[in-house]
Amino acid sequence: MSETKYVYFFGGKKAEGNGSMKNLLGGKGANLHEMNLIGIPVPPGFTITTDVCNDYFKIGQKETVAIIKPSVEKAMKQVEDAVGGPVFGDNKNPLLVSVRSGARASMPGMMDTILNLGLNDEVVESIALKSGNPRFAWDSYRRFVQMYGDVVLGMKPESKEDQDPFEVIIDELKEEAGVELDTELNVAQLKDMVTRFKKVVKEKTGHDFPTNPYDQLWGAITAVFDSWMNDRAIFYRKLNNIPAEWGTAVNVQAMVFGNMGLNSATGVAFTRDAATGEAIFNGEYLINAQGEDVVAGIRTPQQITLEGSHRWATQQGISEDVRKKDYPSLQEAMPVVFKELFDTQKHLETHYKDMQDIEFTIQDGKLWMLQTRSGKRTCFAMVRIAMEMLKEGMIDEKTAVLRVEPAKLDELLHPVFDTTALKSVKVKAKGLPASPGAATGQIVFFADDAEVWAAKGKKIILVRIETSPEDLRGMNVAEGILTARGGMTSHAAVVARGMGKCCVSGAGKIEIDYRNRTLKMEGVTYKEGDFISLNGSTGEVYEGKVATQDAALSGDFGRLMEIADKYSRMHVRTNADTPHDAMVARNFGAQGIGLCRTEHMFFEGVKIKAMREMILADDEAGRRKALAKLLPIQREDFEGIFEAMQGYPVTVRLLDPPLHEFVPHEEENQKTMADEMGISLEQVKRKVESLHEFNPMLGHRGCRLGNTYPEISEMQSRAIIEAAMNLKKRGIATQPEIMIPLAGTKKELEMQVVLVRRVAEEVFAERGDRLDYMVGTMIEIPRAALTADQFAECAEFFSFGTNDLTQMTFGYSRDDIGSFLPIYLEKNILKFDPFQVLDQEGVGQLVIMGTQKGRKTNPKLKVGICGEHGGEPSSVEFCHTVGMNYVSCSPFRVPIARLAASQAAIKETL
Ligand code: PEP
Ligand code: MG
Repeated sequence: MSETKYVYFFGGKKAEGNGSMKNLLGGKGANLHEMNLIGIPVPPGFTITTDVCNDYFKIGQKETVAIIKPSVEKAMKQVEDAVGGPVFGDNKNPLLVSVRSGARASMPGMMDTILNLGLNDEVVESIALKSGNPRFAWDSYRRFVQMYGDVVLGMKPESKEDQDPFEVIIDELKEEAGVELDTELNVAQLKDMVTRFKKVVKEKTGHDFPTNPYDQLWGAITAVFDSWMNDRAIFYRKLNNIPAEWGTAVNVQAMVFGNMGLNSATGVAFTRDAATGEAIFNGEYLINAQGEDVVAGIRTPQQITLEGSHRWATQQGISEDVRKKDYPSLQEAMPVVFKELFDTQKHLETHYKDMQDIEFTIQDGKLWMLQTRSGKRTCFAMVRIAMEMLKEGMIDEKTAVLRVEPAKLDELLHPVFDTTALKSVKVKAKGLPASPGAATGQIVFFADDAEVWAAKGKKIILVRIETSPEDLRGMNVAEGILTARGGMTSHAAVVARGMGKCCVSGAGKIEIDYRNRTLKMEGVTYKEGDFISLNGSTGEVYEGKVATQDAALSGDFGRLMEIADKYSRMHVRTNADTPHDAMVARNFGAQGIGLCRTEHMFFEGVKIKAMREMILADDEAGRRKALAKLLPIQREDFEGIFEAMQGYPVTVRLLDPPLHEFVPHEEENQKTMADEMGISLEQVKRKVESLHEFNPMLGHRGCRLGNTYPEISEMQSRAIIEAAMNLKKRGIATQPEIMIPLAGTKKELEMQVVLVRRVAEEVFAERGDRLDYMVGTMIEIPRAALTADQFAECAEFFSFGTNDLTQMTFGYSRDDIGSFLPIYLEKNILKFDPFQVLDQEGVGQLVIMGTQKGRKTNPKLKVGICGEHGGEPSSVEFCHTVGMNYVSCSPFRVPIARLAASQAAIKETL
């Protein structure tokens, strides 16, 4: 125990820690130490480690304080020495400190800062005397009592409706004094404020405000630790997957004062623009103010640079004369300090090789840095900054690729809501952010109505309890899709992502009444035709219209992607069922199609009719007749897709869903079908009933269809091979890969493989020519993974269908998980939605086993993934480590997967 170091000192260009010690000293602490080491002026102080925080929760407050007390007192002595004179707790020559929390990652929701700690009725007088500035002394004192009361003594109201008792007093006093700003209060009024503050502390807490500086210090330190476990911090950790074991550090630092008069100031700044990425130093400051004033919005902060100030004034419609007089930039107001600040931010950015978010204080003309950290930024800025720093030679290619968060790229690929418009919207419901983007339109409840409305040029939002393949065309013309039921891999979610269309799924609290064509959200009823807006990136549903702006793919983005590809080992393909989707994906850099779901091709016009004829047929001959009508149409579809992919591999999956998905279930539509087919409604109804299954997901689907009705697989195989042959004739190369779905035994796979090869040979013989193609299978039933060595005896490739594999491994229905998932996440039973993020511990083991067993039998086995996980960054990284050849995902996720694949490969080399 005695060897453990609890406290690390920094000051006077020396430090016991450094920037690499974030785990122990927290982000803020580590950077304070580092800044000292590189010669940047930082007020001296010390950091209490995150380990102490963990001990605190194990052994309790009293014991922890007893253990670290000697180290804290020793470090405080070092701070006093570094400051040279003032002593903490001394009434005559007092030292004041700040206390701040600082976890590894910056964490809103925790206690942030206590300033001016060490003040009491005697100390304030000494400070007034010493500084010759009683107003400053009393201003600091009243700030301290309020902050300490709010944060340490827990007087800050939890709910927004309740008022902060201190703010109430400030307002009263300002009214009594007839002034608007705090800065206009005189010393007597500030003294009065402190008296009233202390009174309210006594009333609310039952105790006097602590006067002993060390009592104050321990109160603040333990409050930082306690804040690690407050509800907001726990919630934030959960959202961001931050483990509780990380703990927070505490930074205690000698105070420097930005409120010492007109030659003092405080501010925050970014070394580059966090919204646009532009390489321009920018930020805000306030003269004669302390930290929180800049963000509190009481006074209008001024811009730091002259350029920024000009831009700001133009935006605000403020004339140059007024700007110069009332809102001068720091560059104009304090040119010498500005120059030092400018050089310092350059120094910091060059040192950290990343955009920095900094805090500073100017005390009586002297600059002090209080914080530096990598600045949060939009995705647009993320890409631009990475690419510009690469050009500037500040970082290398690998670093540039690693700098961009793949999941964030979404922001660049879909239209987004106008940020100013979003400020005034009303959130009426929340669902899953199933497919990103922004959509505004009129409510329509039925797919056929959607088509009619869209044909008239109306923008519509398709609102359904859940969607089915019957809704496809309606979905296709909608701006966005809202469903009350269904998870991230529900039909609505998968199809919408494939279409690059905004979708909010599983908004469980909305009520949809198809009969009356109404949607109820938060007690308000919306009718067909009313406007709503969907935020597919957050899952929020808004009332009315919200303005959107188009997403732009910048040149930097394209170049970043090219660099990323240089380092990847895996290829990225797309899941696409139409030439249009294939083209979209190609433009995003897809190198093939990993899954073409043929069933999606059957829903349009004549196709669905022929399909239904086949389903209605009583015998094989009838089915063959209908299939003969489908053959040329399918062949044409495949030609379109092969052509769009220009020689890249295209995996076409044979029919997978149960046949009942192709027949209508609503009487009105059944009637239309009966009329079209020239049969009775009763006949249609009987057929639909006969197709009914209790558990269709586990029923008559996948290769079970192909093995019971081989003529379907025959037609599809023929269409694929003939399409490829036709293109060959036109001089266009193809790489067809025919994929057998939902196989669970080698036998059922083998039967389909033999069938496909027989049909291919027939076509080759007819045409007197041949071409290369492959036959493989999906691995989406656990048994397939367990017996993958047998499967690989007759499959040339495996594609992991992790949607079904997850469904069958967990036993969670992919369409019903929405009913319990939110509760499971809240109770921490699941850490994430396993249909979004591949469950590496469970499902992932089957993926590893399947790959290894398969490659043992067939070392050349090509392995990929085509479940939704193929576009999710952590899952893509997993696929890389498993040794897959490719991942396949919806077109709009292709850039995300490319970047994630590259990062996985780069990380391996570091
Ligand atoms: C899968 O199961 O992962 C898959 C890609 O197939 P589908 O989603 O069409 O069932
Ligand atoms: Mg599947």
